[in-house]
Amino acid sequence: MPKSYVQVAVPVPMRQLFTYLIPNDMQQPPIHIGERVAVSFGARQVIAIVVSVNNECDIDAKKIKPIAKRLNDVFHLSDSLVSFLKLCANYYHHPIGDVFQQALPKLLRQVKKLELQPPMVWHSENITDETREKITKIATKAPKQHALYQLIDKHQGISWAELRTLGYSKAQLNALTAKTLITEVKQQPCQFIWQESALAQENKQVLSTEQAIIVAAINQSIEQFACHLIDGITGSGKTEVYLQAMENVLANNQQVLVIVPEIGLTPQTLLRFEQRFNVPICLHHSNLNDTERLDTWLNAQQNSVAIVIGTRSAVFSPLHKLGMIIVDEEHDSSLKQQDSFRYHGRDVAILRARQLNIPIVLGSATPSFESLQNALSGKYQYHQLHKRAGQSNKAKISLIDVAKQQMEFGLSGSLKHEIKQTLARGEQVLVFLNRRGYAPAINCQECHWLCDCQRCDKPYTFHQKQQLLICHHCGSQKRVPRQCPSCGSVRIAPVGQGTEQLEQRISEIFPDVSVVRIDRDSTRKKGELTKLLQEITEKKHQLLIGTQMLAKGHHFPDVTLVAVLDGDGALFSFDFRASENMAQLLIQVAGRAGRASKPGKVLVQTSYPEHPLLQDLVHNGYQHFAKQALIERKQARLPPFSFQALIRAEANYPSYPEKFLRTLTEQTLINCEFAGPVPAAMEKKAGKFRYHLILQSKSRKELHIAILQLLNVIPNNEFHHKVRWSLDIDPIDLNW
Ligand code: ADP
Ligand code: ZN
Ligand code: ZN
Repeated sequence: MPKSYVQVAVPVPMRQLFTYLIPNDMQQPPIHIGERVAVSFGARQVIAIVVSVNNECDIDAKKIKPIAKRLNDVFHLSDSLVSFLKLCANYYHHPIGDVFQQALPKLLRQVKKLELQPPMVWHSENITDETREKITKIATKAPKQHALYQLIDKHQGISWAELRTLGYSKAQLNALTAKTLITEVKQQPCQFIWQESALAQENKQVLSTEQAIIVAAINQSIEQFACHLIDGITGSGKTEVYLQAMENVLANNQQVLVIVPEIGLTPQTLLRFEQRFNVPICLHHSNLNDTERLDTWLNAQQNSVAIVIGTRSAVFSPLHKLGMIIVDEEHDSSLKQQDSFRYHGRDVAILRARQLNIPIVLGSATPSFESLQNALSGKYQYHQLHKRAGQSNKAKISLIDVAKQQMEFGLSGSLKHEIKQTLARGEQVLVFLNRRGYAPAINCQECHWLCDCQRCDKPYTFHQKQQLLICHHCGSQKRVPRQCPSCGSVRIAPVGQGTEQLEQRISEIFPDVSVVRIDRDSTRKKGELTKLLQEITEKKHQLLIGTQMLAKGHHFPDVTLVAVLDGDGALFSFDFRASENMAQLLIQVAGRAGRASKPGKVLVQTSYPEHPLLQDLVHNGYQHFAKQALIERKQARLPPFSFQALIRAEANYPSYPEKFLRTLTEQTLINCEFAGPVPAAMEKKAGKFRYHLILQSKSRKELHIAILQLLNVIPNNEFHHKVRWSLDIDPIDLNW
């Protein structure tokens, strides 16, 4: 019998595949690409994925170890997914084993046969006269329970994981179960097949002409690769366009993948997908437990799901009949993974659409400069939505010059006046401050000593409720010192203002209204965010204070005033993306104002009202601002007019990373240039010294050739073992 070999991806940080022998007793049935096998690697046994099967091998056959075990289970990756993951590993120059590792749910990465239990799902019970009465009763007495009942009744077979993400609780499920309205059963495996009745016609909107043209353009490009960018302000009807563009794909019995930056933040949008299509929908995000993750993965793999909605890693879902990809809020930086495998969910989604020859739709109110440039140059199809859908109008942005005003706790006189008037009309106000905690620092009022985190050389943030100093960079905590260690004074006090303090102060200024704060600290408890968002919709709170968490996607119909307390955040940063990010954030926050029929207003406090960036943004809007900024990027030969890779290195001594990177710059590269090495913006973090080196080229191809050249010489670099280094292709955060 001829010898046969497999090349496998092993979960180790090495940029190569490994060869193993297929022993005779494992030849039948034939091993397939994408199969899971157990192999011994060093002293361990690990799960590896078969990437190719060959009859020959150019390594000395005696040195090749046999496969330890075939798992013989139903889990295997399709050929197409395997080649897609290879493509990703090549593009990001990332260890291929780790790429496979990240694409698989954790339970599939263990050397263990899995006991498979069908997941439990909820169904509604048959209606009797008695239950009909109960339903009418909860409709008036418990609207949330009623909404839950209706959802389950429509989608026979919805999982707890999904209901939880949509904001429902176990208590509500228990209440309905006690009333014998619903019941939990084992899910029956089935294939998704489209039926006319799956589309809820009654929820469909009549499209505006602008919207109809986009849907038609997307429909035209079905079954071929085309990238569409929908550039439309918040509320202009992008989601409606996605929903209608999906219809044809689903009717073809093909699947749709929807990628969103953060899932828990936008249950309302998710509900719209659920309400429009009565088809199996899977939610994929980081709050699922290991079993739920495996279930989601299997559902996708077995074609029993029609729509997958998920955060960035959903892009690796094993969908066999994928017909369209949608990336919402494509500019959002949380689509990019910022550690180990540093991929961008949007870019990888485009790679996948290209590989599968299917359309992809990107949407945003503030497109990234990369996508905008591709759209303007004709590489993508560019669609604009100019007006808000329905009756609402675009909110007007105005600047408040804080230098000319008396300030009280960060609020100017005119802002206070506007807030008061809005509250008097019974409407809600959103106050945006992108700094959580009570105060960004504490200092000694006598000698001006500042309490710094020793491991990061940055001030500790004071959290009053916990009476703790917390470093927002490394997470270390410490008690507030009673005395100044420098001069002995006891006059130690907070400086500056964070959301925690703002909440307290604003309650003093407006004692008659309810204030709610939404940031990472106030929503740490599971379910808390959903609860607070619900309370806002129910108008239990009039004043909403929040960080960027509140800027994203939410729909608060009664917020008519949005106040940005510190609009200067990024005006003078060294990161060339800072102004793009700030403009996006401002426009996104502004998008929260006046979403329903009432007109909205946005007030931005600034010390630099004449700054050209702010002026341009306020008077001419994001598109104009972005086009101007693109001209500057072009002149400076910065992305998207060039391509970058960032090599980061850190160590306990500053000289190691510096020398490690400097040695790399001694390579002669064609059509590529180096910038650096320079200390990172945060030079010290958690006790480590950090440096980085940027590699830049006009040509993506030459950049990648240069990276391969560098990766080849790194093993010979004498500091290579003394530093921790990483590679970031198309970096978006140079502040690291
Ligand atoms: P976006 O995704 O751009 O924020 P949405 O699709 O959520 O916009 O639309 C905003 C609101 O306008 C939603 O309540 C939606 O139901 C409504 N809407 C969208 N398109 C139309 C339309 N053609 N006619 C009437 N209302 C619409
Ligand atoms: Zn002092
Ligand atoms: Zn620290």
